[in-house]
Amino acid sequence: NVRVRFAPSPTGPLHMGGVRTALFNYLFAKKHNGTFVLRIEDTDQTRYVANAEQYIVDALEWCEIPFDEGPGKNEKFGPYRQSERKDLYKKYADELLANGWAYYAFDTADQLDGHRKDHEANGKTFIYNWHNREKGRLVNSLVLSEEEVQQKIAAGEKYVVRFKTPQDETLILQDEVRGTIKIDTNTLDDKILFKSDGMPTYHLANIVDDHLMEISHVIRGEEWLPSLPLHSLLYTAFSWESPKFAHLPLILKPVGKGKLGKRDGDKLGFPVFPLEYTNEETGNVTRGYREDGYFSDAFVNMLALLGWNPGTEQELFSLEALIQAFDLARVSKSGAKFSPDKTKWFNQQYLQQKTDNELVDLFLPILDNQGVTTDKDFVEKVVSLIKERAVFVQDFWDLSSFFFQDPTEYDPKAAKKQWKETTGALMTELISVIEGIEDFTIENAQTEIKGWITSKEIGFGKVMQPLRLSLVGKLAGPDLFEIMTMVGKETTIKRIQNAIA
Ligand code: GLU
Repeated sequence: NVRVRFAPSPTGPLHMGGVRTALFNYLFAKKHNGTFVLRIEDTDQTRYVANAEQYIVDALEWCEIPFDEGPGKNEKFGPYRQSERKDLYKKYADELLANGWAYYAFDTADQLDGHRKDHEANGKTFIYNWHNREKGRLVNSLVLSEEEVQQKIAAGEKYVVRFKTPQDETLILQDEVRGTIKIDTNTLDDKILFKSDGMPTYHLANIVDDHLMEISHVIRGEEWLPSLPLHSLLYTAFSWESPKFAHLPLILKPVGKGKLGKRDGDKLGFPVFPLEYTNEETGNVTRGYREDGYFSDAFVNMLALLGWNPGTEQELFSLEALIQAFDLARVSKSGAKFSPDKTKWFNQQYLQQKTDNELVDLFLPILDNQGVTTDKDFVEKVVSLIKERAVFVQDFWDLSSFFFQDPTEYDPKAAKKQWKETTGALMTELISVIEGIEDFTIENAQTEIKGWITSKEIGFGKVMQPLRLSLVGKLAGPDLFEIMTMVGKETTIKRIQNAIA
């Protein structure tokens, strides 16, 4: 029975890496007819951001990877917000204290700082572990008497509960992506599990909830790999069956080295967030894929291939196809380089796959904004002519405005090069050729105009380039004869006249 969870901390907007983790969990769950759980890990109240949870939910919805269980939905194992579960964790900390897997520690921040500095002065790193904890330098219940401990607690001294990492053991851990990992327990420090303010830390809450929510596979980012030894020891300490673990590779910056950060997008000019996000405190707005005009299925397709590959050359996958193809065994160990260009390519592919009709519906509001009213069939024809050059629907206007409006300016560079002294006279002659075409179809226009150019024994470019400038305003766009017949004979003539003048 596969049960996986996405367990974000609501400390800000969910970035691409988070969505990728959610997606891989979703794909794995669906592939195995399992359940995809959303759990909000909000025990760290100092980093809590009010609109972040809603953002997470909205982002999953936009990506069309909905959770099966979570806040407000099929609350079988609820509540799904750790802040609403906080009374439940203490007894688990107590259980570890009782069976000797954990101890109270009373060191103040200053004391710990002192130890850190002492160690540094000797060129060492301070680790709160067996090496230090039982030597009487640290203040904890392993060195204090039972009475002293009780006195301190009764006197309201601040304490934490730390995990008692076993000494001189080699842990043999399994990761579905990385295989076997060996860890010497002497390198681990005794992590804090619980604090005297009644709140568990991430480690305790995460393990307790994964157990209570019957999670079968923990699929999460590589940044959590260092927590794996502790988590695995916690399952041993509780005598619980451990879920399987899979740590997904980092997403790397498009250029240079290192992990793609939340701020890289602004610096390098691409979104790293699925949706636009407004920081309620500062009012800062960060851009999102949705608002930048990406299709969510293109975005999801791109993400799926960040750290996973199907083992074939295939790149375009519907969500359904991804579910079929997905396999943890094909998740890579090494970091996956994010490419903004490739992401655009995906969007372009998805745009081409849409029917002209769908694209018309997306284009109409843009036309409306431009004050253009026209009939749908005409727009559909325009869309079919320009779409292959578009990456986004919002490119359509730039690619097609000349179908709806006369050009108001001419690309100066092109004009300088293409509009010669003789061009005006040629264009005037061309107008009369066009006037003479009774039935203004593509074939007729082609035959007449090309025939006339040939009879004049001049190069085609001498006429066609200035004609394009007159009609489009620049040397771009689809076939000229298409454009002419679509805007009609009169408009064609008017535009040439405008250009001559
Ligand atoms: N709350 C952690 C996070 O923000 C969860 C990590 C995990 O999946 O264990 O990603």
